[in-house]
Amino acid sequence: MKGKNTSGVFQGIHDIRVEEREQPTITNDSVILNVEATGICGTDLHIYHEGLVPSGSVLGHEFCGELVEVGAEVKDLKVGDRVVVNPMYNGVGLGLSPGGFANQVRIVNAQLGKNILKIPESITTDKGALLEPLTVGLAAINKTDMSAADNVLVSGCGTIGLVTIAALKSKGIENIIATDISEKRLELAKTLGAKYTFNPSTDGDLKDFIVKQYGEVNALDYSGMLPNLTTVFECTGVSALFTQCLDLLAPDGKMTVLAIYSKETTMNPNSVVYKRLNVQGSLFYTDEDFLEAISLVETGKVDVTPIITHHFPLDELPKAFEVQADSGQSVKVVVTCN
Ligand SMILES: [Zn+2]
Repeated sequence: MKGKNTSGVFQGIHDIRVEEREQPTITNDSVILNVEATGICGTDLHIYHEGLVPSGSVLGHEFCGELVEVGAEVKDLKVGDRVVVNPMYNGVGLGLSPGGFANQVRIVNAQLGKNILKIPESITTDKGALLEPLTVGLAAINKTDMSAADNVLVSGCGTIGLVTIAALKSKGIENIIATDISEKRLELAKTLGAKYTFNPSTDGDLKDFIVKQYGEVNALDYSGMLPNLTTVFECTGVSALFTQCLDLLAPDGKMTVLAIYSKETTMNPNSVVYKRLNVQGSLFYTDEDFLEAISLVETGKVDVTPIITHHFPLDELPKAFEVQADSGQSVKVVVTCN
């Protein structure tokens, strides 16, 4: 006889409810894990505000836990293993299969090194819950051709901007300017490795600030001088800032875009051509990125737990979403699930 599985269920826009569901049943190719903790992500907030997934979905794709049942055909995994889930394989917690805002979650077609990754005891519950977002930042860096000589701007210090800063620092990148309108987030940016912080609401002109830190270079079209800004990670989701970052980059600059935008914007495509810019989007990650994130945390090279501002128990998931949605109050909310 199976017990109950307390689950946080998305019932519609701004409507998350805690319900008792049946515990999942093991199948030959699946594993069931007791969820330790699950982070609330910007993607969860998009769903919270806009719908996007069927009502009745259990969200939560940033979680770690311990295996309590392992299907007969699953290789190299056993009860008691602590794991993190790569949610991209089955859309776990993204409306395609139930996610981590629950006591238990079943992962079908479980494969070690693919959708299931083992984590050692030294990776605490909080660190485990932050592995997925850290991997997002790491993936963006890994697809950007970088060296220690780069002069970087991380535009926006929400969770993704902050983990990107920590990952940059771990790869030996020192010149990092972080921008945000929240002083609290800028302080975190410093803690995680930003050399300089800039608040556009109080610190004047960003272009002047970048020139002061990184110097200037000639524009290729002889139109004047540009800040010696070689690399941008755009993490705000504000369309106007996407355009601003393109304008700020030096010739041959690189911009990697990690945010999701709700509004369109206008831009002059010549800013890309005249400066020979490399502009790319980064969404999700590879299996290798995920393993690298685990290794960076395990070896202590990266610790992004300072970004956690709140913990809530699963019973208070509706409140947890309200707090995560209030960006003045929170940076990262983590929900304890057992
Ligand atoms: Zn996420």
